[in-house]
Amino acid sequence: MKASSVIKLEQAALQSNWEFLRNYFKNVKISAVVKGNAYGHGIKTYVPMAEACGVNHFSVFNAHEAYEVYDAASPESTIMIMGSLDEGDIAWAIEHNIEFYVFTMERLAAAIKLSEKIGKKALIHIEVETGMYRTGFELGEIPELAAHLKNNADKLVFKGLCMHFAGAESIANYVRIKRQKILFKKAVKEFKTHGIEPEIKHTCCSAAAVRLPDMHYDMIRIGIMQYGFWSSPEVLIEYFNKYKVTESPLKRIISWESAVMSIKNVPPGEFIGYSQAFFSHHPMKLAIVPVGYAHGFSRSLSNTGVVIINGWRVPVVGLVNMNCLAVDVTSINDVKSGDKVTLIGTQGEYEVSVASFGERSDQLNYELLTRLPLDITREVV
Ligand SMILES: *Cc1c(COP(=O)(O)O)cnc(C)c1O
Repeated sequence: MKASSVIKLEQAALQSNWEFLRNYFKNVKISAVVKGNAYGHGIKTYVPMAEACGVNHFSVFNAHEAYEVYDAASPESTIMIMGSLDEGDIAWAIEHNIEFYVFTMERLAAAIKLSEKIGKKALIHIEVETGMYRTGFELGEIPELAAHLKNNADKLVFKGLCMHFAGAESIANYVRIKRQKILFKKAVKEFKTHGIEPEIKHTCCSAAAVRLPDMHYDMIRIGIMQYGFWSSPEVLIEYFNKYKVTESPLKRIISWESAVMSIKNVPPGEFIGYSQAFFSHHPMKLAIVPVGYAHGFSRSLSNTGVVIINGWRVPVVGLVNMNCLAVDVTSINDVKSGDKVTLIGTQGEYEVSVASFGERSDQLNYELLTRLPLDITREVV
């Protein structure tokens, strides 16, 4: 355990998730979104696991992630960059058939220039602004864009037309999402009117894919669901109600384990750890676990987090330190150094879910996962 804890990924759970996703989202291609180090699961480990489940399209945010996927993936898989890249990265992308989003005229010009220089077409996805206000061309720019695309047909492949929804996981955004749908349909028409059409259209992340089946088009970009989580409780409950089920068909594939580093007996009437965050009212036995906020165990879980040791759920006491935390094992017999500590996962009849973490520390699933450091070993089980 080089980094004092280990992250395990379960191939069978992933297989089950992909079977569910393919069955649920029929007749549409699914791109696996693996930005944020595959939502903390680890690109290097995760990409071959996903390929073993038949996945052959990966979406990332930046060029660095694309390089990692490129190293881990089979040559047949498609890689698509949805966010940041500089000119050097664009050249690399063109040379290696990596597809990328274009949402500014500068990037379009760079793609044309570099394609000419390299002697190979750039595979681009045009992102349009429909109300997210992050990246994307305004609809008013479509005539100019269409002209560029037509005039440079020898340098550019108009692979995709796309957009991103601004919070499809919450009904509070209903009106905004509805407006985005209308504007995207308008953009599709505009390109057609100007005599050019993309090979594919794609708009949906997980929440939108569940909620807006009419917006699936040719491909959906699934992030959180492949890892076994729903975008929000609201989306999950909507699914429950629609299909009259009470259990999520998705399975968590990640678990996170460490081991007890040492045991500490504390007399009554002492403060435990830094500061005065916890006071021993009675004699206590603590297990010290070598995981702290530097490892992604948020400091906001001080005095509120829970882990499992020897089959029992035990509470974090005091402040979470940079590299370790203390848990109260006073009532558990036989806890000793080296005993397994489950930070995320199941032991015996108890589970620490990623969601429970979120509820206790006000972090999103997304946030907790992506904060798991790169240097924790990932193991496939
Ligand atoms: C992150 C992201 C997704 C995937 O989102 P999930 O909610 O995890 O499915 C899809 N599209 C874009 C543009 C993204 O940034």
